[in-house]
Amino acid sequence: MSGDTIFGKIIRREIPANIVYEDDLCLAFTDVNPQAPTHILVIPKQPIPKLADAAPEDKELLGHLLLTVKAIADQEGLTESGYRVVINTGTDGGQTVFHLHLHLLGGRSLAWPPG
Ligand code: 5GP
Repeated sequence: MSGDTIFGKIIRREIPANIVYEDDLCLAFTDVNPQAPTHILVIPKQPIPKLADAAPEDKELLGHLLLTVKAIADQEGLTESGYRVVINTGTDGGQTVFHLHLHLLGGRSLAWPPG
């Protein structure tokens, strides 16, 4: 159910991660190089490489990922202060790991626009 990326290895428990949430469809863990006090990655267990590869049949899964980010943000106490959800896609989008993931960033005021 998981592809051959570092995130696939985390799903298969081949390398360690600080896992904060898991269900049948997705896994969430803290980013190894956090860019904010809270920086959590939410990934589908199904190895979609990037958002541009998502298909109409992934609609339910994509909705599930967003609602999972929302629930984790709430669990992390970020609902009141706010937070940012980022999906880097492809080279110009700054994506470095080609297993779709949502960044949940919070705990400080975030600048806009991004660099
Ligand atoms: P991208 O640049 O593809 O949007 O984000 C990839 C993210 O994965 C980066 O923020 C990076 O710090 C994180 N990352 C890369 N390798 C690992 C790892 O082995 N463990 C964890 N927890 N995060 C990782």
